[in-house]
Amino acid sequence: MTKHKNLSIFVPHEGCPNQCSFCDQKKISGTQNPPSPREVERLCDEFLPHIKEEGKSYEIAFFGGSFTAIDREYMLSLLQAAYPFVQQGRARGIRCSTRPDAITAEILDILKEYGVTAIELGAQSMQDDVLKMNLRGHTVQDVFTASALIKQYGFSLGLQMMPGLYGCKDYMAYAVDTAEKFIQIMPDTVRIYPTLILKDTLLEKLYQNRMYTPLTVDQAVEISAVLVKMFNEKNIRIIKLGLHADTGMELGLVAGPYHPALKELVQSRMFLDRLIADFATMPVGDYTVQVNPRQRSQVTGQKKANIIALKQAGYNVTIKENNTIEYDDYIILEGEKQCI
Ligand code: SF4
Repeated sequence: MTKHKNLSIFVPHEGCPNQCSFCDQKKISGTQNPPSPREVERLCDEFLPHIKEEGKSYEIAFFGGSFTAIDREYMLSLLQAAYPFVQQGRARGIRCSTRPDAITAEILDILKEYGVTAIELGAQSMQDDVLKMNLRGHTVQDVFTASALIKQYGFSLGLQMMPGLYGCKDYMAYAVDTAEKFIQIMPDTVRIYPTLILKDTLLEKLYQNRMYTPLTVDQAVEISAVLVKMFNEKNIRIIKLGLHADTGMELGLVAGPYHPALKELVQSRMFLDRLIADFATMPVGDYTVQVNPRQRSQVTGQKKANIIALKQAGYNVTIKENNTIEYDDYIILEGEKQCI
């Protein structure tokens, strides 16, 4: 299977009609100035492969702002700079991220014409009160409407969500509600970004004034594990979990559930949830859990967290590698007897 790669071009704060409570897009992207069309051409020429076969795994990605809300002439100039590389077969398409209230049939016609294949909407929350409190400037209905139109046009649809936003009365319940509404929409992909507090944002002020408490890493892991399970069950592909450290974001990070290996922690938590459910039907005692060698650390948990949690429940577990175990699978053995 060919690995998918994005040539990410950040267009910071271009097109944003307001400043959302959590966002300092310049810090997230690590970019200060919007790219010129010439810069887009240079990046594409430098980083995209010349061999057509290799180009099939690349997409040119305009991320960072609200691409479809930026000045029309500027948006067209960026698309015109990128599209020839799609026509030459050096990339299979263009993707962009934007706001749910910046999607119309007219805009989608333009995007179609210039080789855009995937559109990601920053939905962030599917509760109107939370959207309002975080100054998003759009509604839940905007997400439903824009998503339906994007799908009708045949674009790949991505939705982004941010568990732990200001105004959520119950972080888990609100995240699950957002995921349920995403599932009604059935996007092709989702991104899960537990909310972080960045410098010079409204969230920072609220946090300093003790009006907002961000998720802890443990809470973010617990919530993300539930969300990943929900999306996996519906075959909705999760393309990102947590922000990457190499985005320049770390410099402006004030507080919040940032962890460089959040995804690994979530996978580990999912194993623990499964093991606890499986062991619940078994008598306390000593067991061996055989796992695929590539997942030994995930099953064990960071600093043996899963082993410790199981021990506290009365199960003395030894982890053993077994090459014949499928990825994401395991078997539990009691002595020589196979229990599951
Ligand atoms: S619309 Fe997106 S890029 Fe613009 S301020 Fe809000 S979160 Fe940031």
